[in-house]
Amino acid sequence: MEYINIAYVISAICFIFGIKMLSHPKTARNGNSLASIGMLIAIVSTLYGGEVLNFKLIGIGVLIGSIIGGIVANKIEMTQMPQMVAIFNGLGGGASALIASAEFYTQYQNNLSTFMLVTIILSVVIGTLTLTGSFIAFGKLQGFVSGKPITFPGQQLINGLMVISIGVMGTYIVNTPTEINFFYGILIIAGIIGVTLTIPIGGADMPVVISLLNSYSGVAAAATGFVLMNNALIISGALVGASGLILTQIMCKGMNRSLANVIFGAVGGDTAIASGGQAQELNIKSYSTEEAAMIFDAAEKVIVVPGYGLAVAQAQHAVREVAEWLEAQGKQVLYAIHPVAGRMPGHMNVLLAEANIPYELLKDLDEINPEFEDCDVALILGANDVVNPAARHDTSSPIYGMPILNVDKARTVIVNKRSMNPGFAGIQNELFGFDNTIMVFGDAKDMLGKLMSDLKEL
Ligand code: NDP
Repeated sequence: MEYINIAYVISAICFIFGIKMLSHPKTARNGNSLASIGMLIAIVSTLYGGEVLNFKLIGIGVLIGSIIGGIVANKIEMTQMPQMVAIFNGLGGGASALIASAEFYTQYQNNLSTFMLVTIILSVVIGTLTLTGSFIAFGKLQGFVSGKPITFPGQQLINGLMVISIGVMGTYIVNTPTEINFFYGILIIAGIIGVTLTIPIGGADMPVVISLLNSYSGVAAAATGFVLMNNALIISGALVGASGLILTQIMCKGMNRSLANVIFGAVGGDTAIASGGQAQELNIKSYSTEEAAMIFDAAEKVIVVPGYGLAVAQAQHAVREVAEWLEAQGKQVLYAIHPVAGRMPGHMNVLLAEANIPYELLKDLDEINPEFEDCDVALILGANDVVNPAARHDTSSPIYGMPILNVDKARTVIVNKRSMNPGFAGIQNELFGFDNTIMVFGDAKDMLGKLMSDLKEL
């Protein structure tokens, strides 16, 4: 037993240093490997921890899980990563709920202690609602559940009643564990709460929801750790719970919203359509890449603003080539990274790092915003919501209050996208009609390829 706990301490150290190393792109890969080694140590020491286990069954589970996980992780597009994280969170929560349920089912007639029963109920409730909530989040991102908030009268009251009924049934079980029907009742209601808490949240708020559910899955795992009295599970669950919560806070700050507003605000429904301004006429100027090349030729300072479209087009290498060419002509090129650009936290950093763009050139929101004032060209590549000035002044806009990149302060704004379609929040962008904005339509990778040859021909 002592050896197992020493092994668990080693794996906890690997997890903590692994997370620390994830905070910089240079060390992130090694940090990931270190945390994986920590998990391997925890799993191996648990398996050989002296308990009689059915290794055949465990082996089959590991094999099936590894094959499915390996195939999915290899096949998934970078742009679908949030969906994969949502599924992982859901399955993590579901696994915790299943383990706690199994403990309850096999032991409920054996005078379980109050502590044990409370932790089982916590694990089952949080794990189950994480499972169903994550699948709704997955559906909203994948498109088979409406991205708009789904609300109905009395929704919060019904949610409140369901929470109270879980509390009542939970208290009943703690006093009389043999009343197994209440246990099933808790399972079902927790599953429904996961759905009813997630459906009123608009698609544009899914990044926050996913990181919150990530935190829940950690809390469920930690509760299961108490059920099993497994220190490694308690530590890793607590780490996931805390880091998920910190990430949630960072993202709320990135959008200038409170967590309560994200969860209960039903942002992104009718207001989105009302302020979507589809009817609002924009006076746009469409330029060719040759004309854009001439503007770049005269510029000294260029700020590239990557967004979701850059990821869709896989244009990270093409943008590096253009930037290197501009730098070779003595121009300064910087990259503006918005905290929720793309479809997951850090999406743009990962993408640009993949193309070997020096990390020092990637500037976050606070750092880059003052730079736009003396910038000649802001080149927007497939970004939309994160550069929408409505966030600053239009109180009816669903993204009102979200800090944005102040690209409109640049002398010229060159926006590349394929059409006038809106971005994730489903709203039109007044920036496209500004006097200093020009549009260069097309797929980001194709456009950058053409721009490159036009620049060389100047
Ligand atoms: P947006 O989703 O606002 O806009 C992306 C734009 O890219 C679209 O307007 C689209 O226009 C364009 N586009 C798509 N494909 C291409 C292509 N091949 N070439 C060129 N352009 C293309 O992206 P942003 O990055 O500005 O904003 C992110 C949004 O996503 C925010 O609302 C954020 O809240 C949300 N979100 C963020 C997450 C995160 O953690 N980062 C997670 C989930 C959501 P067109 O179709 O006309 O080409």
